[in-house]
Amino acid sequence: MADYILVLDEGTTSTRAMLFTSDGAMVAVSQKELTQHYPQAGWVEHDASEIWNKTLACAQELLPKAGGAASIAAIGITNQRETVVAWDKATGEPLHRAIVWQDRRTADFCEGLRASGHESDVQSRTGLLLDPYFSGTKMRWLLDNVAEVKAAAEKGTLALGTIESWLTYKLTGGAHVSDASNASRTLLLELAGAQFDAGLCDLLGVPRAALPEVIDMSGALGETAAELFGRAIPITGMGGDQQAATIGQSCLSPGETKATYGTGAFVLTNQGRTIPRSQNRLLGTVLTQIGGERIYAIEGSVFVAGSLVQWLRDSLGVVESASQTEVLARAIPDTGGVTIVPALAGLGAPHWRAEARGLISGLSFATGKAELARAALEAMAYQTHDLAEAFAKGGRGWGTLRIDGGMSANDWMAQDLADILNVPVERPEFVETTALGAAMLAATGADLYPDLDAAAQAMRGKLHNFTPSMDDEVRDSRLARWRKALAAA
Ligand code: ADP
Repeated sequence: MADYILVLDEGTTSTRAMLFTSDGAMVAVSQKELTQHYPQAGWVEHDASEIWNKTLACAQELLPKAGGAASIAAIGITNQRETVVAWDKATGEPLHRAIVWQDRRTADFCEGLRASGHESDVQSRTGLLLDPYFSGTKMRWLLDNVAEVKAAAEKGTLALGTIESWLTYKLTGGAHVSDASNASRTLLLELAGAQFDAGLCDLLGVPRAALPEVIDMSGALGETAAELFGRAIPITGMGGDQQAATIGQSCLSPGETKATYGTGAFVLTNQGRTIPRSQNRLLGTVLTQIGGERIYAIEGSVFVAGSLVQWLRDSLGVVESASQTEVLARAIPDTGGVTIVPALAGLGAPHWRAEARGLISGLSFATGKAELARAALEAMAYQTHDLAEAFAKGGRGWGTLRIDGGMSANDWMAQDLADILNVPVERPEFVETTALGAAMLAATGADLYPDLDAAAQAMRGKLHNFTPSMDDEVRDSRLARWRKALAAA
């Protein structure tokens, strides 16, 4: 009998359930789109009941493909990070729509905290910056603005949590827990702290009593209520999506680095047991917590990656499909001096300039669709190069870069990355590394493997390699052109 691992991958735009064998092969998947709510400019919400119902439906659809619940050895959960749900423990129902990670409604509150001089203390304790991206200020907003949330807090029935916390509550029928990687994105957990910190909760005005217990990411984390799937299934793996992808890429030793190119780009470097202290406006975050022991990561987030290609396709009509950028880029020897700075939503790490805006420089009458498409792909290597420099300044140079995400399918971009970074780039044949990482956590937690290294050894698939082959002169002149354009933006 096969012992399958059921992965629940709750993303920003869709919810999926995936069935893995214990050697890492994905045998079935079920997926449902999620409704995006935009009540005001800069606000993004999800319906937490829809998230739960679709997660449950995806899981139930897969069970027959596994041959029933008895064939599922374990469940692993991975999720969009930082998104916040408030619910009532008395009813088990949400008290408001979930506030999504992209939501900027707490920008003024964050600015106020920065103006009062709190940022450097908060950064050294949590590894994060005072930015609306993180969960804590979203929790405070719910308490300040939603009468039902405030009333539940007064009655002592309020539960606050990120998505894995909400799903686990529903799956187990009442456990209120959060795994350490998700908890480390709230601004309420010290990087070295086992549980949410009372001082940070006071600073942000979030009642500690409403917060979940912080738990490991692998091990006996919980059990599903028997009525959901016909039998109780152990939940043995849990982790935020970027941490799970880092594990799925087998970045399990200090210095190993992955970059995910989806809508945005997220780079994480394994930092080992040392608590990260970045001076270069990179983030420090929990990568794994197993048996109470933590491994940390340094993270750099770039806001615009694949969304630049989407913009070329949907707003400008430069390409008909995302993959056409590759055909166009290959058709010409260079961009003819055209550079795109993709600051369409400001600049993230390492610049953190929210007010910056995008720029296309070097236009001439010779500029056509191919030059624009190629310049868009080149911008990925440049943005990653800026991150590489920030990581290197902190003593964390990259030996190789492991890439994944929808945009990493572009071979031209992958080769250009290797050329501009001047490091080898590796891309797994199976690019669903987030789900694979959750499966590795769950398989290890269910004792199918003694540790994550053994799980990675058994479950990680074949790699495709891209070797740097660019002349230094060409690289230097391209980077000089990028720096000029960046300064102008
Ligand atoms: P997310 O998980 O953030 O929704 P995905 O990992 O699914 O994103 O990646 C989708 C993004 O990658 C889209 O923005 C799309 O424009 C881009 N993309 C997909 N395929 C290619 C390609 N072959 N070349 C360039 N960009 C691509």
